[in-house]
Amino acid sequence: MESAFPRQPNSSTNGLQRFAVGLGRALFRRCPFCGENHIFENWFTLKKQCPGCGSRFEPEDGYMLGSYVVNLGLTAVLGVFFVFYVVFGTDLSVVATQIAAVVLVVGFPLFLYGYAQLFWICIDLIFNSTKKFDPDNDPLRVSEHHHA
Ligand SMILES: [Zn+2]
Repeated sequence: MESAFPRQPNSSTNGLQRFAVGLGRALFRRCPFCGENHIFENWFTLKKQCPGCGSRFEPEDGYMLGSYVVNLGLTAVLGVFFVFYVVFGTDLSVVATQIAAVVLVVGFPLFLYGYAQLFWICIDLIFNSTKKFDPDNDPLRVSEHHHA
């Protein structure tokens, strides 16, 4: 099937350009590196590697901790907008406001979970080339080579 996202490497030498290309793909839950679809096991879980380009989405242990920061930050920003909206833009009762706030604060991070992981990778792409995620660039495998 002809896709609006032909698979292409995200290989600009300009970090901000890598970020922009990656983000455009991440918004559609596609691989930031090549644009491949189907990179999630389920709503929350990224596959270990992209089925399209083989990039490893978690190049080191604990890598995705940063995605929690992204998720938390976005939820906080949304929360602030929500407060302003409720206070200045609506006549919601206190109870209705509280219910809406709980739904937002619980629901939004769950909704955002997979996006936050991809956004985190995109932020990383400002500073690092996609080589970091290259399957041949596995530090464990490299150290095995040194022992051999
Ligand atoms: Zn890919």
